[in-house]
Amino acid sequence: MNSEIQLSLFDDDSNPNQQELIPTDSKIPIPSGTYANMTELAQHCNQCHRCELGDTRTHAVVGRGNLQAPIMVIGEAPGQNEDETGLPFVGRSGQLLEKILASVNLSTENDVYIANINKCRPPNNRVPTPDEMAACKPYLLEQIRLVDPKIILLTGATAVKGITGDKRGITKIRGQWIEWQARLCMPIFHPSYLLRNPSKEKGAPKWLMWQDIQAVRAKLDEIRQNSESAT
Ligand code: SF4
Repeated sequence: MNSEIQLSLFDDDSNPNQQELIPTDSKIPIPSGTYANMTELAQHCNQCHRCELGDTRTHAVVGRGNLQAPIMVIGEAPGQNEDETGLPFVGRSGQLLEKILASVNLSTENDVYIANINKCRPPNNRVPTPDEMAACKPYLLEQIRLVDPKIILLTGATAVKGITGDKRGITKIRGQWIEWQARLCMPIFHPSYLLRNPSKEKGAPKWLMWQDIQAVRAKLDEIRQNSESAT
């Protein structure tokens, strides 16, 4: 027996179609490294019924922006505009997010990739259930692996809870750097919260967001400088 044949005995061929079954059942695991690229991942999301949200979606909303972005923004789940277009953060919230990024010279074309915890819209924009988040989270973990961002911004309490498990209110933890799986993350307000709280006075949510996005910009510059001086 040559060594190639001997090595083939190590293959796990107990269920060769396991990967094809991923969109059918949340019990099928999505191991790290399952997808070679975002297109493959999106194909699964668009045919996915790992949770009931797949029954009512128009489009799965996978993500948009630079696939090699240093910053990844993670939200909760698509709303109506996103469900209709298949793109995340495209309504008024999305426009505000673009303005916030632009205020420190960041853009989704160059610096940011945006995705959600859940790829399908919950009916009436309700918060996704823990089971729905658990069913979809492995897709997001694959997206994070593929984009490999230096900084992750978690918009709103559901995104924070979905990624880190931290259940504290967003007003308590926004603006703080936290380390999750060796990545730098910062919880920030969801843009829709800022739309409901338009005051720009010192201490108001919009003013706090301005502090946070400046801290993000400074951290990105610091990371880039450190990696340049290391080369
Ligand atoms: S929300 Fe996620 S897990 Fe649920 S059906 Fe959509 S893609 Fe699948």
